[in-house]
Amino acid sequence: MKQSQTLIPTLREVPADADVKSHQLLLRAGFIRQNTSGIYSFLPLGRKVLQKVEAIVREEMDAAGGVEMLMPALQQAELWQESGRWASYGPELMRMTDRHNREFALGATHEEMVTSLIRDEIKSYKRLPLTVYQIQSKFRDEKRPRFGLLRGREFLMKDAYSFHSDQKSLDEAYDLMVTAYSNIFRRCGLNFRAVLADSGAIGGKDNHEFMVLSEIGEDTIAYSDSSDYAANLEMAAVTVEYEQRKHSGQKMARIETPDKKSIADVADFLQVDQQETVKSMLFIVDEKPVLVLVRGDHEVNDIKVKNVMNAKVVELATPEETVKWLGVNVGSIGPVQVPESIEVIADNAVKFLGDIVCGANEEGTHYKHVQLDRDFSVKKFDDLRFVIEGDPSPDGNGTIQFAKGIEVGHVFKLGTVYSEAMNATILDENGRAKPMIMGCYGIGVSRTVAAIAEQFNDDNGLVWPVNIAPYNLHIIAVNMKDETQVQVSEELYKLLTDYRYNVLLDDRTERVGVKFADSDLIGLPVRITVGKKASEGIVEVKIRKTGETYEVQKEELTDKLQ
Ligand code: ATP
Ligand code: MG
Ligand code: MG
Ligand code: MG
Repeated sequence: MKQSQTLIPTLREVPADADVKSHQLLLRAGFIRQNTSGIYSFLPLGRKVLQKVEAIVREEMDAAGGVEMLMPALQQAELWQESGRWASYGPELMRMTDRHNREFALGATHEEMVTSLIRDEIKSYKRLPLTVYQIQSKFRDEKRPRFGLLRGREFLMKDAYSFHSDQKSLDEAYDLMVTAYSNIFRRCGLNFRAVLADSGAIGGKDNHEFMVLSEIGEDTIAYSDSSDYAANLEMAAVTVEYEQRKHSGQKMARIETPDKKSIADVADFLQVDQQETVKSMLFIVDEKPVLVLVRGDHEVNDIKVKNVMNAKVVELATPEETVKWLGVNVGSIGPVQVPESIEVIADNAVKFLGDIVCGANEEGTHYKHVQLDRDFSVKKFDDLRFVIEGDPSPDGNGTIQFAKGIEVGHVFKLGTVYSEAMNATILDENGRAKPMIMGCYGIGVSRTVAAIAEQFNDDNGLVWPVNIAPYNLHIIAVNMKDETQVQVSEELYKLLTDYRYNVLLDDRTERVGVKFADSDLIGLPVRITVGKKASEGIVEVKIRKTGETYEVQKEELTDKLQ
């Protein structure tokens, strides 16, 4: 592709509202443009990268036995009413009415659509198992669209659904999917973990999230420092508690708030705004866990102490009172000085209320904004647990550490939730009707692109892994007024393209400084500079990742690039 003939609108300045690296660089390097909040266009380079990820996803899905299809994004409300999710999905579902006043949704996910499709087509166990998938835009009216492609309102997802007549068959398909997902994210070059996720009644081993490790991740994961064990906080806590029961005597406490019913009550009880920054510490005082919440960022007179165990609220307005009551010195928002007589069992490492996550970073003062969902289920609230950094890992190897993660994929066993609700049955060997057993498997394709950009960049721009780069080679003609340079760069462009390289040729009449800066920003793996020495048949090769450069005779280029 010749740069003069495509659209790569690079920017020198960091766009004002882009606050993470991937978002900034994808905008600056001309891969994407924002249309409106959470909605993006993929420009030619962005589209290429997306296609690279899609191709890997397709290969691995096909290898796992999936067959590709494409379902409508526009879905009639009746489908969602059948499953009950028209009512329960909440404001994230984009809804609309047609000219006849019939209600529709833009697909946030496709369980309903696929269940109704397969229900109508498949009636016998003999036609199962079946795994179908699609790569398609999804629509979710996210409360806080942010970080560019990482949390959009329209985004590209690969979603797969498997149908089975027995549990064993589902288990097999699930295992294949876990392997496929690991292959996909490995081929994308990502540093990721497959994390056990809490799936309530369904059971932990039936639900994995694939998390790219990243400081800007919105999820906190608990992982073992010396094994493959990794879980989201809820799941880790459940497992820890289970282990605690087995080996009594280990540190474990449970926060219980028996008489609270709604999230407003909870917020009221904790005396926090539902969007407030909260720091927490958990102490053992008189053999009882006590949660200390510090509201706001710096206001020391805002300290609230609550005896959570028996839901008795102890409010202390000033640090002095707090110190007196607890015998601890809560001097500031920073690390708290605690006398040895008091055991700190969780230094900002409490997980409570689903969305209020407090982990621990280097300074031990790690927190997350409180994001309470109004749709928050009371059930969860009755069952609060936590896991502590430094706890023994549930698998017996090493201790628990916390890390931030970006959820790029999610696989889980649905069982018969949708098939029962929507009456998707098959006849079994004995001619009896029974609900199909289902699994579902999602990958955020556009989010994965951003996660790769987040992990692969330096001060000068993007540094694409070879598998993902929009083009393999970037040829820069230094001076477009120099006939030899133009001729050699055209010649190499043709030659290397014939050698099946994907080549981007910068044939613009720009200053060379601009060309180099753009080239670094775009981040193709190899740059070939055609400059003054072109007259001697010599060009310069630069490896984007290492910065290594060398000169080479143009005839030897194809050998050198092997
Ligand atoms: P999150 O917890 O980040 O909101 P989710 O659990 O709601 O994601 P799933 O329903 O599991 O998402 O969807 C499957 C995949 O789709 C996710 O693992 C993620 O990679 C991707 N995804 C979900 N929401 C978005 C979004 N708003 N923008 C981009 N990708 C998304
Ligand atoms: Mg979500
Ligand atoms: Mg999630
Ligand atoms: Mg998920």
